[in-house]
This record gives sequence, structure tokens and C-alpha cells, in this order.
Amino acid sequence: MQKYIIRLDDACPTMDHKKWNKIFDILDKYDIKPIIAIIPNNSDKKMMIDKYNNNFWESVKEWENKGYHIAMHGYDHNYISKNSGLIPMNNNSEFADIDKKIQVEKIQQGWKIFQKNGISPKIWVAPSHTFDKITLQVLKKETDIHIISDGIAYYPYNRYGFFWIPQQLWWFEEKKYGVWTICLHPNNMNEEQIEKLEKSIQDNIDKFKVKLDVLHKQYKNRKLSLKDNIYFNFFFLRRKLSRIKILQKIYKNIKG
Ligand SMILES: [Zn+2]
Repeated sequence: MQKYIIRLDDACPTMDHKKWNKIFDILDKYDIKPIIAIIPNNSDKKMMIDKYNNNFWESVKEWENKGYHIAMHGYDHNYISKNSGLIPMNNNSEFADIDKKIQVEKIQQGWKIFQKNGISPKIWVAPSHTFDKITLQVLKKETDIHIISDGIAYYPYNRYGFFWIPQQLWWFEEKKYGVWTICLHPNNMNEEQIEKLEKSIQDNIDKFKVKLDVLHKQYKNRKLSLKDNIYFNFFFLRRKLSRIKILQKIYKNIKG
């Protein structure tokens, strides 16, 4: 059966608490355990929405106690390179193509913040999907992280010594098979989208009941298949083509 995991990105002390709480209420109502991508030391102004919540890390502990899966979402969400790394989704990065010394520093500092607050994330979520093999080496050495929430494939797989849970959707879509992670950004969601999310969950509730430890048992030794590779290449080709179409439209508009 097809399964769906919900991932909520960009939790930090200045997130839009009202929107996040609305989504948490929905998830709790249907007993769904999301992945929460937490920026340990946010310096991205786009994420500075509410005033700083001094009890943020106590909330993170509560989420963890509820069975939510805590993920480390980079260090400060500040892009310092134009490289797209292993997953060519975007051309800006906090990690891809960055000197190893700086990557070590960022990951050590981020990990320290989690540790200080009594939390040991098991999952890595790179800001903008961008990281490289050095990032993985550093994560292995400096943290207990062993799961990567990223990649384009039909099912989770093992690669570079990590367990990858692919992340292919940004909204609910009917699928016939596969394990799908839907990445949402609660800070940017409107009322209508939040309602639509509830409706998708309500109509497909069994498909949202996923246990990450069960997935791990089932897929921990799986390698990427030919079909996954075709999907990966097709996904990024389609993305490139749609970008070209957008550029053509802009060009036409400029030309009048
Ligand atoms: Zn982010």
C-alpha cells in the first residue's frame, strides 16, 4: 500500500506559532507523527515571524514525547554557496561545496544545541535539500543521525551508510504505491491550505499511519533500483523544463 509521511520544515523559536499549533492539532486528532525539521540556530529573517519564544526547546521536548520525529534542519538556514550538492533541487546551500572545517563547525554547534536541550535527532533535513558527501561524513562522525529525509525514489533505501527516506511531494497527491514524504512549510501556509491538508488526511487516514522504525526494518538494506533512477532523472528533467517554460513566459512578457 502507498504510505505518506508528513514533514514540517523550519521550526524555530520565531516561527508562526499559531499556524504550527493548528497543524499540530490536526495531526494529533488523527494520531499522525510527523517529521519536524528544526533549525537549531536560525538567522534567516524569513523565519522571524513571531517574537522569540523562550520556551521553544521545552516544546520540542513535548513534540518528541508525543512521538514526533525530530530532525536537524542544518544550522542557521543561511545560504553561503550556490552549489546544489547531491540532490539538484536548488542552487543555494548552507553546506554543499563548503569547506569541511566550516561544515564540521556548523554541525558540531547545531548538535550541541540539541544536546543541551536533551534531544538527539536521528534525522537530517538539509535546508534547500542541498548537501554533499562531506556533510554526510561529518554527520556520521559528529552526530547520532542515521536517517536522511531527502532524495527522489519510490521507497526508502540505503546509500552512503545512511537510511534515506525519500521526499518527493510538497502536497498530497494520489499515488498507487510507494513511500512518499510530503514536505510542508507551516510558516507560509494559509487557512485554506491547512483545511485542505485536514481533508486529505481524513480521506486517506490509513495511508498516513506510518512508523519510521517499521520502514527502517523493511527497507534498511534496499538499494536504489533502475526504476528509482529513472524517476530521479525524469523528476529533475521535468523541473528544468518547467523552469525554461517560466523563463520563456517572462521573456515574452518583457518583449510585450
Ligand atoms: Zn528550511
